Amino acid sequence: MYFVPDGTKVCGFYECSECGMRYLSLVIAPSMVCPYCGEEVDMELGPDDEMPESFEEAKLIRVVEGDDVEKMDVLLSLAITGGDCDWL
Ligand SMILES: [Zn+2]
Repeated sequence: MYFVPDGTKVCGFYECSECGMRYLSLVIAPSMVCPYCGEEVDMELGPDDEMPESFEEAKLIRVVEGDDVEKMDVLLSLAITGGDCDWL
């Protein structure tokens, strides 16, 4: 497994509108900061500090469950390593 650990039952399938990256994440949310081009929010800031802008460019396309998790992981891994992208 490339994106998620072996045995993952449920994960989110995301596509980043900024860099076009498609990936799986154990975190399931309507949108999230892209781990490939986004900035992590600095958690050391105190509550009185100005909130850093976070860009949640990666949108959840769908929730992947069961055997589809492994299939999606393989397909997305192949896409990254130069495989063909016509599967979607
Ligand atoms: Zn991105």
